[in-house]
Amino acid sequence: MMKCQTVMDILERLAPKKMAEDWDNPGLLAGSPQQEVHKVMTCLDVSIPVVEAAIKESVDMIVAHHPMIFKGVRHLRTDLYDGKMFQMLLSHNIAVYAAHTNLDIAEGGVNDVLAQAVGLEKIESFVITDAEKGFSLGRIGYLPQVKSLDEFVMDVKKGLHISHVRIVRGSNKPVRKVALCSGAGADFVSKAAFKGADVYLTGDVKYHEAQGAVQQGINLIDAGHFGTEFPVVQVLADYLTAEAAKMKKDLEVITDNISQDFFEFC
Ligand SMILES: [Zn+2]
Repeated sequence: MMKCQTVMDILERLAPKKMAEDWDNPGLLAGSPQQEVHKVMTCLDVSIPVVEAAIKESVDMIVAHHPMIFKGVRHLRTDLYDGKMFQMLLSHNIAVYAAHTNLDIAEGGVNDVLAQAVGLEKIESFVITDAEKGFSLGRIGYLPQVKSLDEFVMDVKKGLHISHVRIVRGSNKPVRKVALCSGAGADFVSKAAFKGADVYLTGDVKYHEAQGAVQQGINLIDAGHFGTEFPVVQVLADYLTAEAAKMKKDLEVITDNISQDFFEFC
């Protein structure tokens, strides 16, 4: 058993809240730092199916990537989705903690996990969020050897355990230097081109951003918001398990194994 505060402290060491972007809302979103935690579930999104699974598994605390509250809560109507979800959480004494852009930026967080999953080396910062401290969203790195775009696409699919990606062929050159940003990173296509990347890997790309990639001569891989972020769910669970073991504390950590990408290919 651990206090919720102790689990929060462990997460704070990995991804300090002060790293987060101003608009973000990381931290404890439900529950109390004083409550006891025996079992944690890590996930990308807190949803009713995830909370149902947490209840079934006797989970005391959910650690999510996406905060389920951003703006002021105007009501807690239990006939609507969010209110119903909060009622389920609170009535089962389940705390919720979110590590969002702080986990994107943190060393060993979402972007580093993504960079490692697709085989990058010599990983550097990409979109600087704090020049003094060297914080950045996304990463730039290099493949161990030059590959064709199609070979790299195979590596991405294998590394992220996904069946499909969308690609934009903006260049015929082979691929060595890769820029990436997990989740919704389509705003940074020009930045990736400016930094001289051969390919930019992200999620949530729309038509005009694809057009921009072609015009700027950079290849684009859209591996999906879910696809580029989901690998961190297991890494978070492994991290919490390892830290609890170091402290000789009993803490069971499971991952959300029911959530899938909302998008299907047919
Ligand atoms: Zn995201």
